[in-house]
Amino acid sequence: MLKKTYNPIKCCKHIICISLGSMFIISSSLFTFLLIQNKIENKIKETFKSNTYKTIKQNILFLKKGLIAQALTIVLNDNVLKAYKKDDPIYLYKKLKPIWEVLHNYFNIYEMHFFKYPLTNFLAFSTGSTKAFYARVRADIKFIESSNKVASYFFVCKKFAGLRATFPIKVENKILGALSYGVEMDFIKNVLNKNLNMPTFYILNKTILKQNLAANSYQKYLSKASKEKDNLLYFYINQTFSLKDLKKGTKEINSKIYIFYPLLDYKGKPIGYIGAYKNFFFLFRWSTYTFLLSFIIGTISLAFLIFVLIRFNLYLGEKLEETLSYLKLLKYGYFEELAKVLEKNRSSDYIFGNIQKSILEISQNLKTYFNTLEKELQLQINKGKIDTLTKLYNRRVLEDLKNKLEKFPKDYPYSLIMLDIDHFKKINDNYGHLIGDKVLAKLGEIIKNCIRQKDIPIRYGGEEFLIFLPKTSLETAKSIAERLRKTIENLEIPIDKNNVIKFTVSLGVTHKKPGETLKEVIKRADKALYISKRRGRNKTTVL
Ligand code: GH3
Ligand code: MG
Ligand code: MG
Repeated sequence: MLKKTYNPIKCCKHIICISLGSMFIISSSLFTFLLIQNKIENKIKETFKSNTYKTIKQNILFLKKGLIAQALTIVLNDNVLKAYKKDDPIYLYKKLKPIWEVLHNYFNIYEMHFFKYPLTNFLAFSTGSTKAFYARVRADIKFIESSNKVASYFFVCKKFAGLRATFPIKVENKILGALSYGVEMDFIKNVLNKNLNMPTFYILNKTILKQNLAANSYQKYLSKASKEKDNLLYFYINQTFSLKDLKKGTKEINSKIYIFYPLLDYKGKPIGYIGAYKNFFFLFRWSTYTFLLSFIIGTISLAFLIFVLIRFNLYLGEKLEETLSYLKLLKYGYFEELAKVLEKNRSSDYIFGNIQKSILEISQNLKTYFNTLEKELQLQINKGKIDTLTKLYNRRVLEDLKNKLEKFPKDYPYSLIMLDIDHFKKINDNYGHLIGDKVLAKLGEIIKNCIRQKDIPIRYGGEEFLIFLPKTSLETAKSIAERLRKTIENLEIPIDKNNVIKFTVSLGVTHKKPGETLKEVIKRADKALYISKRRGRNKTTVL
């Protein structure tokens, strides 16, 4: 009886639309967010790279200029010129010793080295020693003296690797020699570290170190290095880089951005790199991860919500379906069936339980109303419209029935059985009209016995009968028709001591469809009867 008519997809159409819409909005905003963040991130990174590179460059330039300025004051010292003219390094040593000590102790000057033109060493001050000594010929000095220019560059000498300034010593345009003067790599690293406020490091060419440094100094550098790769020694850093990245000036590894600046010697060739790095993890990745996490949580919650909504909608659909089936029973007046179904499917749901209760109440009220109507119908018809032979109603009662039905609810359900005696003419012909009448009277009696009190049997024609079955389903009407057919089939009407008459009937059964008039229903019942005749008589046809 409960036919599934609702479509779950249709039922949840709006939920599916809203869900797809929200998913679209969420994913497009995520996409936009990531896109914008990526752009911003790249912009910030690029700015960081170029700014850091620029700052390193400026710091080194500043150091170079500082060194040159300091060298200048020494070179222009009268004592220096005097010593050179006198060719007396001891004199120079004595005069410059206090200056050297200040420079070394307060300005981190690692070495102060005087050369004599062409290519001869004159005097050297260096770390831990204020004694004059003679050093070997240095390629850079050779280069600077011959070019006759002030220069500042990175260089590896016998003692250390670092930045130095070389200043030619001249009198009246005549070159007497040169001063070379420098700071060690660690000093430069510390200056950068302070000015950039970032971890700093440097990388030096191992071959250049080995070729220039004295054995003990070289060993010091080797033991200080934290890494070695591609003939490069790494200081203050635990990461190595490819030559390509070093030349490029920047490298990004695991959210850390490294910046490298080449340490150029007097010929413009790098002896290594100095650099700094910064960790960008918390600034960028973290916000992406947070967003992704909330996106995942949001999606799961949304999916759960959609699931709950769909479940709820399906539940509503089911309940609506059930309610409609109850209303259908109510509409057609099947009050007993409705009461039974309601009892069987009683719901504990507050709203739905109340709906069921209300339907049951309406059903009880309608039942009382229908009973009153049906009683009225019986009384009216009783008014003398009885066929004398069969004791059933005569055809004229149909007019009353039609008028009465018009006052009934539009969908008041009823069934009709149309019945006709098979080959009645033969009975008349064989046994005579009186016997025929007897048969008709007996049939009237049987019909009356087979139907309910409220059913209305009518003699529709000579040997044709119409039974009006109020509030009766097609199935019930069919079973009544069959009961009649079988009873008649087994009936024997005695006509004298030795003979009995047996006969059969053909029947047509039908049920009122929505909006049909009584005339239309009778016509269909008649058609059903005609089909029974055609099928060979003694049959019941439902149409
Ligand atoms: P079918 O199986 O096709 O119904 O055959 P049938 O002979 O029953 O049908 P038909 O309509 O040809 O014959 C009906 C007969 O019923 C004709 C008529 O004389 C007879 N008849 C009609 N009214 C009465 C009546 O009041 N008394 C008697 N005895 N016969 C009647
Ligand atoms: Mg007949
Ligand atoms: Mg007939």
